[in-house]
Amino acid sequence: MTATLIDGKSEAQLIREEVARGVARLAPQVGRAPGLAVILVGADPASEIYVRHKQKAAKQAGMVSSLFRLAADCSQEALDALIADLCARDDIDGILCQLPLPPHLDAMRSLLAIRPEKDVDGFHPVNVGRLQMALPAMIPCTPLGCRLLLEGCCKLDGLHAVVVGRSQIVGKPMAALLLHANCTTTIVHSRTRNPQALCREADILVAALGRPKLIDAQWLKDGAIVVDVGINRLADGKIVGDVDFESASQKASFITPVPGGVGPMTIACLLRNCLESFARAGGLVSETTDSLSFLSSQADAHQGQ
Ligand code: NAD
Repeated sequence: MTATLIDGKSEAQLIREEVARGVARLAPQVGRAPGLAVILVGADPASEIYVRHKQKAAKQAGMVSSLFRLAADCSQEALDALIADLCARDDIDGILCQLPLPPHLDAMRSLLAIRPEKDVDGFHPVNVGRLQMALPAMIPCTPLGCRLLLEGCCKLDGLHAVVVGRSQIVGKPMAALLLHANCTTTIVHSRTRNPQALCREADILVAALGRPKLIDAQWLKDGAIVVDVGINRLADGKIVGDVDFESASQKASFITPVPGGVGPMTIACLLRNCLESFARAGGLVSETTDSLSFLSSQADAHQGQ
C-alpha cells in the first residue's frame, strides 16, 4: 500500500470530544442538555444497531438521547402524531426517524413533518435548499463527514472532484459541499456513459454507489484522494466498501478504509448537528454562522471568553 490512510475513527473521536466540550459549556447557559429524539419503527436488525450506536454516542457527549419505538404495523397517523409532539417539545433539539420505514409508511411525509431546525439528518427540503444556496443549514451527516475528512488531507480549492452516486442522502449533498469548497465537481451515476474514464480524471473521488469493491485502481488517476462511503455486507458477513481497497490503495495518495473511515464520521456529525440545533435554539450562535464552521466558531468564542 502506498496511500496514506485517512483515519475516520480518530477524526470522529476528535469531533465527539469537541462536541462534548461544547455541550458542557453551553448546557449551563441554556439550563438543560441538548436533546436528541430517535424514532425507530419496527425492529429491523441493522436499524437497531445504528440506533444503538447513535444513542450511545449522544449520551457520551452529554446529550439526553431518547428512543421512541413504534410497532412495525403502526399507522401513518401514529407516526405523524409522535413527530408533531417531538417538534413541539422545547427539550428536543434533534429528531431523527431511522430509515428505512416499513413500506406502508410514507417516508417523505414524515420527513416533511420534522421542523427544519430539528432535522439533524439534513433531509428536509428546506435544509436541502439552504445547502444548495450555501446558507447555514443542517447538512446531511455522511457528506459532512466526508468533507471534513477531505479538508484534513489537502486544500480543496480548484481540484476536480468526482462523486459516484446521486442519492439525496449522500451523492447530491456531497457534490454541493465540494462545489462550495471550489472544487470542479462531476456527478457520475448509474446512467453515466463511460464512468471509469470520468473517474480517472478525478483528483478527489467519492464513492457512494452501494456496489461492493466496484471501483478499483483502474478507475483512479495516480495520486487521487479516495473517500469510500460504501457499506456492503458480503455473503460471509464481511463489510466492504464500494472501493477495492487493496488495489486502489496502491494508486491513491489518500484513502479511507471500510470500516473505520466515513462510518464513524457520520455519527460524529450527527452529534455536531444536534449541538448546532441546540445552540441555535438557545440563541447562542449567530444567524449567519455557516454550519460548516460552526464548531470552530464555537471554539473561537470559547477562547475569547
Ligand atoms: P443509493 O442506492 O440511494 O444510491 C446509489 C447511487 O449510486 C445512485 O444514485 C446510482 O445512480 C449510483 N450507482 C449505482 N450503481 C452505479 C454504477 N455501477 N455506476 C455509477 N453509479 C452507480 O445509495 P446511498 O444511500 O447513496 O448509499 C450509497 C452507499 O453508501 C451504500 O453502500 C450505503 O450503505 C452507504 N452509506 C454509508 C453511510 C455511512 O455512514 N458510511 C451512510 C449512507 C450510506
